[in-house]
Amino acid sequence: MSKKKACKTCKMFVEENECPTCKTTQFATNWKGRLTIIDAKKSGIAKKIGVDKSAEYAIKVT
Ligand SMILES: [Zn+2]
Repeated sequence: MSKKKACKTCKMFVEENECPTCKTTQFATNWKGRLTIIDAKKSGIAKKIGVDKSAEYAIKVT
């Protein structure tokens, strides 16, 4: 099983080769913790980490 990759900019887990949010191709497979944002519009955590899209995010990427 290969480890998921997370966008280095927004930390969102991405399956494609380009992040749909930042259009970046910089990914990290070395990440720690995960966070699922269900309703980004109402989530205080989403605001805190600066995302506006409901998705799964890594807490820390290196
Ligand atoms: Zn991104």
